[in-house]
Amino acid sequence: MKITSKIKRKNSFKEKLDRIFSEYIRLRDSDEDGFIRCYCCGKILHWKQSQNMHFIPRQHLGTRFSEINCHAGCIKCNYYNNGNIEEYAVHLKKDYGDNITDKLLLAKKTTTKISDFSYQKMIDFYKVEVEKLKKEKGL
Ligand SMILES: [Zn+2]
Repeated sequence: MKITSKIKRKNSFKEKLDRIFSEYIRLRDSDEDGFIRCYCCGKILHWKQSQNMHFIPRQHLGTRFSEINCHAGCIKCNYYNNGNIEEYAVHLKKDYGDNITDKLLLAKKTTTKISDFSYQKMIDFYKVEVEKLKKEKGL
């Protein structure tokens, strides 16, 4: 019983951070009118309809909350196109340099555990950032 409740609690910290971090990435990538260009296919859509796309899949904690590993994109690329990984890699290399995909591949296994305290710190940090972005962009 105890173990179950501990796992549940952990998940909820992670889920809370997932939600606020996703909001942050999508707002970061949106323009002043609230529109984003899908990082992979270039489709224009409203940030609320966009998704936080991970280059290295979400299950890897070392890159799950990396601002470089995450960009706003469309549901088609994120789900139905299997993350559109080839296009994603092309854009990452253009924006961050040729060795960025190798760096992310190395980073994905560097974190296997995040403490509640660290989760809470990151949640608080991104809450402030989200409010800042909303204010700056008038969204
Ligand atoms: Zn797309």
